[in-house]
Amino acid sequence: MAARDPYLLTPGPATTAAETKAAMLRDWGSWDGDFKAITARVRARLLEVAEAGDAYTCVPIQGSGTFAVEATLGTLVPREGKALVLANGAYGKRAAETLARIGRDFEVYATTEDTPPDPAELDRILAADPAIGHVLLVHCETTSGILNPLEPVARVVEARGRSLILDAMSTFGALPIATSTLGLAAVIASANKCLEGVPGMGFVIARKADLQAATGNAHSLSLDLADQWTYMEKSGQWRFTPPTHVVAALGVALDLHAAEGGTPARGGRYAANHRAVVDGLRGLGIEPLIPDVLQSPIIVTFRCPDDPAFAFQPFYDRLKAEGFIIYPGKMTAAETFRIGCIGTLTPEIMGEVVAAVGRALDALGVARRNAA
Ligand SMILES: *Cc1c(COP(=O)(O)O)cnc(C)c1O
Repeated sequence: MAARDPYLLTPGPATTAAETKAAMLRDWGSWDGDFKAITARVRARLLEVAEAGDAYTCVPIQGSGTFAVEATLGTLVPREGKALVLANGAYGKRAAETLARIGRDFEVYATTEDTPPDPAELDRILAADPAIGHVLLVHCETTSGILNPLEPVARVVEARGRSLILDAMSTFGALPIATSTLGLAAVIASANKCLEGVPGMGFVIARKADLQAATGNAHSLSLDLADQWTYMEKSGQWRFTPPTHVVAALGVALDLHAAEGGTPARGGRYAANHRAVVDGLRGLGIEPLIPDVLQSPIIVTFRCPDDPAFAFQPFYDRLKAEGFIIYPGKMTAAETFRIGCIGTLTPEIMGEVVAAVGRALDALGVARRNAA
């Protein structure tokens, strides 16, 4: 093992700053004024990052990002309502599966893993089915790293008078999301991706009027976003035991986000990381799966070398021995692996990753297929 802690080249949990980890060395009373103040500050900062005005609120929720997605769908989509899921990867599919479990009517507009949804086709689907009240879009489909077209989709949904729910789990804090301007009903994210906090909580930026109207919809007690909101507004406390250390760490992570220069600077660093790893691996003959124009700077899916000497597990083990934790592929259509560009990584670290990949390929006896 390398002497330092490994770098996580994953889509989250991601590598966090020492200050963020240090924020967890203190215990907090969940009802205490000091902790309530942290919660209030975190909620206010998240609203700012989301570019959400007074018509919106931030409702944090215990658990991983999926809990926040389930809470949002179960609260905002009425029991007799219908949702449309735009799916081109695992997270879109998971949202559809969630709707099936909680007994909401839904339809899926599916495209292949390297194809964004077509706004014109979305418009036709909405025109043909007035029962669809909510549309769910995954901003960056972390399965492949593809960036889906938020603004064109939001324009179509608004023009048709429907509500857009955005799963911004892997973009929030790194790519701008103009929540108010785009008229989004809800934006869902979690602490442990581009905000560089630790895992244990998600949050939803939701239009207050929609939450108010959704009171009583939820299928679940613990995942009732409207109840969580009402209770938090009244008491300043979380409804059930909060992940106190996670909230405190997110407070510090948000300070670091602001100190770095906010979303533009964070996204700029990730884009530089992305460039360094894509250029570097291309030099080793390893190509990304998604065309550059569709690719987010968050995570890159690479095609495994087409060489019988290559196998993912020994490749992974060699990189791990050098202190780099990469991520397996999640695509159904091709043999791939993924490299995340988020967390406290820098282009210099990505350069070290590229060098380590070169050594791993040599050790496995994989022939170099240098792209000129
Ligand atoms: C990470 C992620 C989620 C939530 O996953 P969890 O494992 O529950 O945190 C949801 N949607 C997208 C697009 C994600 O990247």
